[in-house]
Amino acid sequence: MVENILKRNEVPVEETWDLTHLVSNEEAYEEGVKKLIKDTNEFNAKHKGNINNAQQVIEVIRDCEALVTSLIPYATYVSLQLEEDQTNNEAQIRASKFSTVSSQFASLVSFIDGEILELSSEELEKAIEIEPTYAHYLNRLIAKKAHQLHPEVEKTLAALSSTLDAPYGLYNTTKLVDMKFDHFTVGGKSYPLSYNLFEGDWELESDTEVRREAFKAFSTKLADYQHTTAKTYNTHVQTEKALSDLRGYDSVTDYLLFDQEVEQDLYHRQIDLIMKELAPHMRRYAKLLQKEHGIGKMTFADLKIPMDPSYEPSVTIEESRDYMKKALGVMGEDYLAMIDAAFDERWIDFANNEGKSTGAFCSSPYGFHSYILISWTERMNEVFVLAHELGHAGHFRNAQKHQSLFNSDSSKYFVEAPSTLNEMLMANYLLKNSEDPRFKRWVISSIIARTYYHNFVTHLLEAAFQRKVYELIDAGESVNAAILSNITRSVLEEFWGDDVEINDGAELTWMRQPHYYMGLYPYTYSAGLTISTQVSKRILEEGQPAVEDWLKVLQAGGTKSPVELAKMANVDITTDKPLQETIAFIGSLIDQLEELTAEIHQTTN
Ligand SMILES: [Zn+2]
Repeated sequence: MVENILKRNEVPVEETWDLTHLVSNEEAYEEGVKKLIKDTNEFNAKHKGNINNAQQVIEVIRDCEALVTSLIPYATYVSLQLEEDQTNNEAQIRASKFSTVSSQFASLVSFIDGEILELSSEELEKAIEIEPTYAHYLNRLIAKKAHQLHPEVEKTLAALSSTLDAPYGLYNTTKLVDMKFDHFTVGGKSYPLSYNLFEGDWELESDTEVRREAFKAFSTKLADYQHTTAKTYNTHVQTEKALSDLRGYDSVTDYLLFDQEVEQDLYHRQIDLIMKELAPHMRRYAKLLQKEHGIGKMTFADLKIPMDPSYEPSVTIEESRDYMKKALGVMGEDYLAMIDAAFDERWIDFANNEGKSTGAFCSSPYGFHSYILISWTERMNEVFVLAHELGHAGHFRNAQKHQSLFNSDSSKYFVEAPSTLNEMLMANYLLKNSEDPRFKRWVISSIIARTYYHNFVTHLLEAAFQRKVYELIDAGESVNAAILSNITRSVLEEFWGDDVEINDGAELTWMRQPHYYMGLYPYTYSAGLTISTQVSKRILEEGQPAVEDWLKVLQAGGTKSPVELAKMANVDITTDKPLQETIAFIGSLIDQLEELTAEIHQTTN
């Protein structure tokens, strides 16, 4: 199944995304960036030192929105070109050149918040009255006031922003450019290996010997780079700590949660409850896998295998369109039109090529359509991934249509709710259309193995790891490879208990996650999925009214906090209830898996 990896220029064009929608050609790029720098300087000359009253506050925000809007296509173009092929020399050079432009940009507009905050509260209230559109932006700014530094310090930090953000780029360079995997051999046969091949194929391989050898070869290569990667990560968290201290937050956690508009209790609840209450269900799932596959001792390297690998249906790119339309059609005409456009106009990068970023993501530049990165291997499983990414696209499409730029992005806490809701809709559609126990078991095990495993286990264990890292950092400590590996091992052991052996190499899992460079992101996956599990239940039970509520939530964009957004969909996340109900739901899915498995064995025996 796994073939040799193509170079970017060898993949079929129709499987790639069309970035010319952002920037039509090189010339347009060069000219556009030049104009952007000129406009930014003019903006600075016009507004700096001139924000003296409510009217001027509105004008500067409006002009700034327009300026950022004009930056977005170039920034997106540069980053997506690199994401599609990190080994592309030209793209690398362009990206580093552009990061200088971004720093310049950030430094030239950095005066805004500070100058606005020098005005009296009455004047800011007046600004909100003149232009209620900016109420959310201004209120958030007022809340930030206590953490604002002297304008010259803000300017310096902005000028240094690309340096402060450098660890993420270093992490990716180590992982995707420097790290070269040799083939591995099993029974005299040689198999190719890469990050994408490991996570997309080998980890799911049903031949235990091949799977475990792949894991060994993959971990051995990771180990070669553990110290560079740990140093990079330590630099990142120490930078966060320094910024948190400078700005006067009580802890790095408070600093990182501020922009999510979430209090610490919501953060800790996700980690504590899931570690405790979900673990027994997931251990039962691991046992079921072990039994089905006749594995003597279940190890960490075996957890990703499908329940029924001989059954995994395959699905072509074109067939996937049909699944998307049928499963997500409940969201309405506009949503369906978006799905068709995504396929017809090449919003999606399906190709498999060397240097491509791992996993899948959706980038939604304001004023344009979304772009989706995925590496299609024709596993049916991927209909869930694509439905997920289209969920992000649908969210931003709705939000951007109804909100101005600064109002369109919702909190990270909420951001994975629309995407995971689509995974649930996909599962509901597939389950409704079959009576075959084997297919039903495939669907349910896919939701467990993909949706819930990914969001409630993989990312949650990362969140538990991250919490321990920040505890150390807040105590003034630093981290290295040995410490990070110890933390990872202890988290994995706590969750899986005696039912899964945490084999050698598993402790290096901390090296695999780019989200560690994006603040407190990992825990938000389970938070989003908690909301979407409850909403999907509502859509199943109530139909259209629940869909209508949900579309309104999407359209609210970033104008409300996660607690308020969830409330609009009738989910109260200030209590334990939605999370406990979601965990119980996962338990019930595993019950069904056990029952369907018994049923299947009865009919085949
Ligand atoms: Zn997502």
